[in-house]
Amino acid sequence: MDSLREKFSRVYGAGGETEIFFAPGRVCFLGDHLDYNGGTVLTFALPMGVYATVRYRNDGVLRLFSERGGNNVVEHRLGQNVETAWARYPAGVYEYLLGQDRPCEGGMACAGYNVSGADVYYHSTLPIGAGLSSSAALEIVTAFALLYPIYGEQIDKSEIARLCKRVENRFVGVNCGIMDQFSVALGREGHLLILDCSDESYTFSEAGLEGWVWVAMNTNVPRALRESKYNERRAECETALNALREKNPSLRAPAHADKAMLDAAELSPNVRKRAEYVVEEQARVVECIAALKRGDVQTIGRLMNESHAGLQTLYEVTGRHLDALCSAAQKAPGAVGARMTGAGFGGCAIALVAAEAQTEFIRSVGESYLQATGMNADFYVVRPSAGVRRVDE
Ligand code: ADP
Ligand code: MG
Repeated sequence: MDSLREKFSRVYGAGGETEIFFAPGRVCFLGDHLDYNGGTVLTFALPMGVYATVRYRNDGVLRLFSERGGNNVVEHRLGQNVETAWARYPAGVYEYLLGQDRPCEGGMACAGYNVSGADVYYHSTLPIGAGLSSSAALEIVTAFALLYPIYGEQIDKSEIARLCKRVENRFVGVNCGIMDQFSVALGREGHLLILDCSDESYTFSEAGLEGWVWVAMNTNVPRALRESKYNERRAECETALNALREKNPSLRAPAHADKAMLDAAELSPNVRKRAEYVVEEQARVVECIAALKRGDVQTIGRLMNESHAGLQTLYEVTGRHLDALCSAAQKAPGAVGARMTGAGFGGCAIALVAAEAQTEFIRSVGESYLQATGMNADFYVVRPSAGVRRVDE
C-alpha cells in the first residue's frame, strides 16, 4: 500500500513538509443518549479512526480531500459557503478556530486562534455513519492538526472537544451531545473514560478485564430515521425535564431524577418511557463503575444487556437489525453482554466476550444475523486506545 505521504503528493503535488495526525472513533458501552440528559457515559477510543496528512499554508486557504468524500479537492476560505456536505465538518472547525462563532460588534471575528490554511488529505479506517463517531474523529483530527504548529503537545483537548461540538451543532446542524468529541479527543490507551456530561468532569478506569475482549459489530444498516428520531427524543426529554421541575425546581437534568420523581410527575406515556430509560441507565452506569473497579465482568455484561432492553422497549431507538444482532450476540458462545451503541436505528453494537471464544462468537453471531435479516454483519475486535495525536507513519 502506498504511504499516506505518497497519496498526499498525488493529490496536492510533492514538496514541502507534511505532518500526519490521527483521531480515533469511539464506542460507548453504557450510557448512550445520556450525554444530552446530563448523565454519565462510559466510552473508550478505538484503534480505528481518521488520519489527516497535512501541509501547512500561510495564505488562509484550506484545501480538503477525503478518500471517502468524492474525487475532488474542496477549497475553502474564511466565511465562504461550503457546498460539499462532508467538508462542512472540517471547514466548520477552521471557521470556529478562527473565532467565527463568536463575532464581535461589526460582525468581525474575535478571540480566535491564529491558525492559517493547510492542504489536508483524509484517510479513514472507520465505518462512516455507523455510530462509531467518524464525524467527531474528522472534526477533532482537523482541530488538532490546525492547532499543532501553535501549541504542539500542549493543545487543550477538552477545549477542542467543546469547539468541535459547537461546530457539529451549529455549523453542520447535527444536535449531538458532548460524548463523542470528548471520547475521541481524550481517549487513553488501555483505559475506559467515565465522563459526567452535566459538568464535563471525567476520570479514567483501567480497562483491566484480563481474558475478555470487546467486539464491535456493524449491522451494516443505513440509519434511515436516525436524525429525526434523535431530535424527537431530545424534545421528549426536554418535556420530561420541564414537567419534573414543577415539583423539583432545582432538578438540573433528567439523569438526576429518580423513580419517585417520575411517579409524582405528570408525564405522557411516551415521555414517561424515555425518562424511565434515562433514570435507569444512569443507575446502571453508577453500578457499572463499581463493577469495573472490582473487575466484575458478569455484572458489566448484565448491565449491557439490560441497557439494550431499555433502549429497545423504553427509549425505542434500536430497530429490528440491532435487536437481531444483539439478541444473537447475547446468546453466543463466550458472550457476557451486548448492546447497541451510538444513536441507534442501525449502525453498531458492542459485545464483551471471552477472549478464547472470540472466533466462535463472531462465526455464530454472523450466522444468526444473516439468518434473521439476510444481511452480513461486520466485526471488529477492539481495545481501548489513545485519543487524538500526531503519528509517525
Ligand atoms: P458517525 O459519526 O456515527 O460515523 P455521523 O452521521 O455523525 O455518523 O457522521 C457521518 C458523516 O461524517 C458522514 O456523512 C460524512 O459527512 C462525515 N465523515 C466522517 N468521516 C469522513 C471521512 N473520512 N471522509 C469524509 N467524510 C467523513
Ligand atoms: Mg457522529
